[in-house]
Amino acid sequence: MTVLSRCSTAAANPTVAATFSYLIRALSSSSKFDSETDLNRNKPATLATLNREPEGRNVQWVFLGCPGVGKGTYASRLSNLLVVPHISTGDLVRDELASSGPLSSQLKEIVNQGKLVSDEIIIDLLSKRLEMGEAKGETGFILDGFPRTVRQAEILEGVTDIDLVINLKLREEALLAKCLGRRICSECGGNYNVASIDIKAENGRPRMYMAPLPPPPQCASKLITRPDDTEEVVKQRLRIYQAMTRPVEDFYLIRGKLLEFDLPGGIPESWPKLLRALNLEDHDDKQSAAA
Ligand code: AMP
Repeated sequence: MTVLSRCSTAAANPTVAATFSYLIRALSSSSKFDSETDLNRNKPATLATLNREPEGRNVQWVFLGCPGVGKGTYASRLSNLLVVPHISTGDLVRDELASSGPLSSQLKEIVNQGKLVSDEIIIDLLSKRLEMGEAKGETGFILDGFPRTVRQAEILEGVTDIDLVINLKLREEALLAKCLGRRICSECGGNYNVASIDIKAENGRPRMYMAPLPPPPQCASKLITRPDDTEEVVKQRLRIYQAMTRPVEDFYLIRGKLLEFDLPGGIPESWPKLLRALNLEDHDDKQSAAA
């Protein structure tokens, strides 16, 4: 039985989502939340009974990497392959923005300036998403865009075990171009790219070519650009990544959970190589490597 399903079937045990909810209360009731002390002093006793063994449950993976690196693309492909939910906190924020709920205008300003939303808001959105998934019987997850600060990583660590953190890396010259070329289908949410990236061989590094990722005909007339994919905002997001999220890489590195993966190019070169790095090449993959 998986961690999450064990938790949801045993009334006394908190689910990951319930534990997140507990943490939100802890965060809002103390002016300074010390994850180590507060978790140990106030945690529900049943937290200690969570199974730390990954055997027999679905994966609990995290994708790290700069804006534009392709976290969403590869997380979504792996989620189809492994049949676990792909949970993007960026998507949760955009859904909240579109809902014109109470947080909407506050979030819009933050996101459109390329800044990070507060840990409290993100954890609230994530725990609601996990709760909804647990109610539908979902187990495991591939997180994309969370954690983005060391504090978020500490909170996640206090709630559940992460098995693996895949740190995607792409040559810096390509990141800005990938963000500026990104297009989203306003109807199905599909992610496409109009950029054709061709970086010549230099200083012993091979040429890198990334072909555009065109939309299927049914999405072609519905493409939109994210408001935070302008040059100025992408540069700000890259700076924030260096300052706030780069330390999260070290957080997982010292715990022996970080898998560094250099993307060699577009999906045709990168996808088979990623599957090999994850020992998944024997999985029945119905997705085309071409796009
Ligand atoms: P993304 O789609 O991952 O690039 O996220 C879009 C925006 O949502 C980010 O620039 C942040 O404003 C916000 N966001 C997403 N995830 C987080 C997070 N874990 N912590 C703080 N802000 C986030």
